[in-house]
Order: sequence, then C-alpha cells, then structure tokens
Amino acid sequence: MTSAEQKELDQFMQGLKKRNPHETEFQQAVYEVATSVMPWYLQHDEYRKAQILERVTEPDRIITFRVTWQTDEEEIRANRAWRVQFNHALGPYKGGLRFHPSVTQSVLKFLGFEQIFKNSLTGLPMGGAKGGSNFNPKGKSQNEIMRFCQSMMIELHRHIGEDIDVPAGDIGVGAREVSYLFGQYMRLENRWSGVLTGKGLSFGGSAVRKEATGWGCVYFCDDMLKHHGDSLEGKRVAVSGSGNVALYAAQKLIQIGAKVVTLSDSNGFIYIKDGLTEERWEAIRALKEDHRGRLSEFKSIDAEFHGGERPWNVPCDVAMPCATQNELGEPGAKALVKNGVMAVCEGANMPTTIDAIKIFRENHVLHAPGKASNAGGVAVSGLEQSQNAMRISWPAEEVDQRLQHIMKNIHQRCIDEGTIGINRVDYIDGSNIGGFKKVAEAMLAYGAV
Ligand code: NDP
Repeated sequence: MTSAEQKELDQFMQGLKKRNPHETEFQQAVYEVATSVMPWYLQHDEYRKAQILERVTEPDRIITFRVTWQTDEEEIRANRAWRVQFNHALGPYKGGLRFHPSVTQSVLKFLGFEQIFKNSLTGLPMGGAKGGSNFNPKGKSQNEIMRFCQSMMIELHRHIGEDIDVPAGDIGVGAREVSYLFGQYMRLENRWSGVLTGKGLSFGGSAVRKEATGWGCVYFCDDMLKHHGDSLEGKRVAVSGSGNVALYAAQKLIQIGAKVVTLSDSNGFIYIKDGLTEERWEAIRALKEDHRGRLSEFKSIDAEFHGGERPWNVPCDVAMPCATQNELGEPGAKALVKNGVMAVCEGANMPTTIDAIKIFRENHVLHAPGKASNAGGVAVSGLEQSQNAMRISWPAEEVDQRLQHIMKNIHQRCIDEGTIGINRVDYIDGSNIGGFKKVAEAMLAYGAV
C-alpha cells in the first residue's frame, strides 16, 4: 500500500471509529476489508464520489428489542436481541441468528458486515444481515429455550419475510431453535414460507445444509492446496470447535484422507495423535449433537483432553479454526508457524486476529478467510430458499455438487482478484475485493439510495 493509500485508509478508519465508538469487533472487520479494497477504491473515482465505502459500512437499519420469557420456575427473565439488516443491494437480507452471552451490537455488526461480501461471493442473490441475542442457551431446559424462541419471534416476525430478510442458525442456534422460531412465525403469520433456513428435512429444509459449512470449508481448503501443487490427503489438521461447523469439517476431512488431530470447546481441546477415526467421530457427534455434552466427557485411549487450552500448539500442516471470533491470536499463530503450518482455513467468522494475520502473511502461510472458506453454509441456505420457492427438494448428491461448484467459483474469484506474482494468492485481499466489487457496482447503479 502506498503512503497516500495508507493516509486515506487511516482517515477513513478514524471517521468509522468516531461513528462506532467501542465497537471493536466491527472496527476490526471493516479495517480488514477497507485495507484490501482501498487501492482499487481510490483508482475508481466514480465509486469514491458515490461514497460507496462510507455507505456500505453503515447498516441499512438495526432493530433492537427486549425478549421477555419465563423460566421453568416461573421467574421472569429479559434479554436483549437485535437484527442488523446491513445491506440488501444484491438480494433479500440473509444471515444467521446467534444466541450467546458474548453477543453485542458490535459482534452482530461485524458478522452482518462480513455477511454482505460472503453472500456476494456465492454468486446467489442475497444481501447481508445478522441477528441474535445475549441469551445463553447453556443450562436451559428445552421448554425454556422454546419459550425464549417464541418470545423472540413475536417481535422478529414483523421485520422478516422470504423476500425481505431470511434468518438462519449460528452459534447457539441449531436445528432445534430454528424449528421453534419457524413454528412460531407460522403461527403469527398464518402461512408457510421459507422465511428461515436450516429447517428440518421434513418441513422444507435442504439436504446437506447441516453439513454445508464444514464440508464447504474442506472443499475450499483442498482447492487452495491443489492450486499450490498439494492436497489435503494425509495432512494433519488441527480443528477448533466441536459445533456444527467443526464436526462436519472433521467428517469431510476424514473422508478425504486427512488426519484430524484436534477438536475443542470452550473448556479445552482433545488431542488425537493418530487422527480421528470415523467411529470416534460418530461418538463425538453423538455426544455433542444428541446429548449436548462436553468434550471433557469423551473417553478414549487415543485422545487426551487439555483443559483451558486452545489447540494451536499441536504440530499440524493445516489449522482450521471453526469455533468463534478472535480465537487464533498472535501466540497461536507463532506456535503454528514454528511447527511448520502450511495453511489456515477459517470455518468460523473472523477467528484470526489482525496480529495473527500479519504473522501468517509474513511467513507466506496460505490463509483462507471465513468470508470465502465458510460461505458453503449460506450458499446451501440460498439453495434452500430456491427449493422452497419452487416447492421441490433436490437430492443430497445434487445439493453437494452445487456446493462444490460454488466453492470452486469462490476459490477462482479469490485467485482472480488476489494473485500477486507467480502463483502466490492473497486470499484475504482476493475475497474482500471479489465480494466488494459486486456490491459496489449494484449500489452505484441504484443511485443515491
Ligand atoms: P455451534 O454453536 O454449533 O458451535 C460453536 C463451537 O465453538 C462450540 O464447540 C463452542 O464450544 C465453541 N465456542 C463458542 N464460543 C467459544 C468461545 N468463546 N471460546 C471457545 N470456544 C467457543 O456454532 P457453529 O459451529 O454454527 O459456528 C461456529 C463458527 O462458524 C461461528 O463463528 C459462526 O459464526 C461460523 N459460521 C457458522 C455457520 C453455520 O452454518 N453454522 C456458517 C458460517 C459461519 P461450547 O460448546 O463450549 O460453547
């Protein structure tokens, strides 16, 4: 970046921080995108005059509301919830709902902002949004979770619709929560529509949606390695998380012959020196999905549990952070580089801090950002919307093929926009520029809206 470009970036960020004080996650996400697109933006006066960067970093609207619900002991509780409708230049708002005590407006703004460019990369007509609540589903009964979801939908239903805004799951919102939310939406609106994605297969859900983010991440990672003359086969992969994304990333990694050496949750990680087998994977899936258990409860002679730690000190060829934002910082990045990691492929959204990104860049580690490598989930959600609109269901093989095709296209877009020199690709720049250009073009075409 030239000094003139750096100056423009600094000025822009100064304004953004002033307008969004204390929203550190949002500032971080914008900084990453603005750093990539600034040189291109400054070369295209028409976009600059239209203030596209300033406009695309301002959400269309944020809806904030109180969700009041009753515990099993009939005590009243109140949580805060949001829906950030960030940008619908390319299609109806689309993005998940997160239930976690760490949810704030800043977190949802960063997620909604990332979602704009991720959805653009899929090539499907979807705008960017995100929502959720600081409600903590851990330790709550099934009935409490149902009452919370129903109460939340009483407000949310006014703001969503199949052509307006289509939420889905995210951390703390899986098939169970989506079903409660969807059931309540139908009751309030008295009609069936594909207003949420991630639905059960028997009521409008798509085959492969549950697996899509994790599988898509593995497809992307394999494409990335193949583009650089290698592949995932035989590689040791450290996966973090053991939720929806991590579990199905691990499943696909095993299927294509990689060794999954770690999985984690918020209490620690398990180390499986020789790699997870399919049987062990199924035991962990059942523990997590069916029994909502902790990894520390997983007992196996070939797995060690390390409490209170993250998996980045484990020697591996590939790191796949699939848990949450900023889970891979400078110490983790240094340890991975020291142990010879060749690629980092993000299953989670913004799991890598800015300091860690710098370390990977300096050491020429291939680094796929979530907005490219985890786009498979929203892509299949987009396919769920199409199937709902057509009142048909595609078989799993067909959805999987479409998913692979979309991930290949995203990878190609990163190469087209992010290649520097011979056979070196900056996937962060490539995905940011590739995602941004399409949204900017649409916004320019709409005029002053
Ligand atoms: P889940 O709730 O299914 O799983 C989250 C996993 O991450 C759990 O293992 C959880 O552990 C762990 N985790 C959550 N917060 C923390 C934390 N603060 N520190 C350590 N571990 C933590 O969520 P998903 O798998 O759906 O989502 C994971 C990531 O992927 C998120 O960043 C999400 O935004 C992103 N993503 C998800 C998509 C999807 O389709 N689901 C699509 C695209 C991106 P514990 O159980 O102990 O809380």
